[in-house]
Amino acid sequence: MPWNRLYMSTKVAVVTGSNKGIGLAIVKALCQQFEGVVYVTARDIGRGKETVETLVSEGLKPMFHQLDINDLSSITAAAAYFKDKYGGVDILVNNAGIAFKGADTTPFAVQAEVTLKTNFFATRDMLTHFLPLVKTGGRVVNISSFVGSRTLNQCSPALQERFRSEDLSEEELVGLMQRFVEETKKDEHKKGGWPDTAYGVSKTGVTALSFILARRLSRERHGDKILLNACCPGWVRTDMAGTKAPKSPEEGAETPVYLALLPPDANQPHGQFVSDKHVQPW
Ligand code: NDP
Repeated sequence: MPWNRLYMSTKVAVVTGSNKGIGLAIVKALCQQFEGVVYVTARDIGRGKETVETLVSEGLKPMFHQLDINDLSSITAAAAYFKDKYGGVDILVNNAGIAFKGADTTPFAVQAEVTLKTNFFATRDMLTHFLPLVKTGGRVVNISSFVGSRTLNQCSPALQERFRSEDLSEEELVGLMQRFVEETKKDEHKKGGWPDTAYGVSKTGVTALSFILARRLSRERHGDKILLNACCPGWVRTDMAGTKAPKSPEEGAETPVYLALLPPDANQPHGQFVSDKHVQPW
């Protein structure tokens, strides 16, 4: 078989922010369980390659591609690479994320802008450019958080109604996320119906975006049987969450990997928020 046709039929998994933490544990599990090529991606080439070397020394065979989700040119370069080499991707796990520490004294408005930039807007950019590349039978997993659900319940009734509405559009959601950031700059976010958590709002946005995009896939690519879900990994011992968290990174990877490897004949969960492998109320 010519090499390019061989690559086109090779199955591919891509995990963002997978040089450490939960992303790395997802890559390890996929290397062991997924019949295809698994890509470590990292914003920093050095950290990414070091991770790959460690995994190779453990007998695994991941590949590497640079991917900074805050850099649109990095996203489009990676998307072009996977399209040209493999004709698309089979599994996409949007894991990359940030959180300011509780004790961080950076002004709240700055924390809001920076946190939403990565967790919501950059994750959306990833989905904008990679969702069209997801192949028939593909699986898309967006790592959100139970904090996003808790935050939703702390929003004003009017905001809760919009976040839960089946007619919430991507444009309206983007507008709501922008509104939160702008209102924090004037210290008016509480008056606007938001709680005091930038990380929480960013993850409310990731979960709501997942529902919107899943509905779109059902409408526009129904026959492709792509399943897209948001999930919470649980509270996991990583650089982000610290050493007191109860779950190991491997345990944190279980639900994302379960969603990434839903069998070919599965038709659900789709457009859900999943925790401990169970669909959660929104
Ligand atoms: P870590 O801080 O350990 O890892 C985060 C990863 O994301 C790192 O690889 C980091 O890269 C990467 N990253 C950050 N920004 C970017 C970017 N712009 N482009 C590409 N990669 C980036 O966190 P966790 O493993 O704990 O978190 C993983 C995901 O799980 C996050 O989305 C988080 O919000 C979510 N989550 C975590 C929970 C927990 O208890 N740990 C609970 C619920 C959700 P680098 O090394 O370069 O900084």
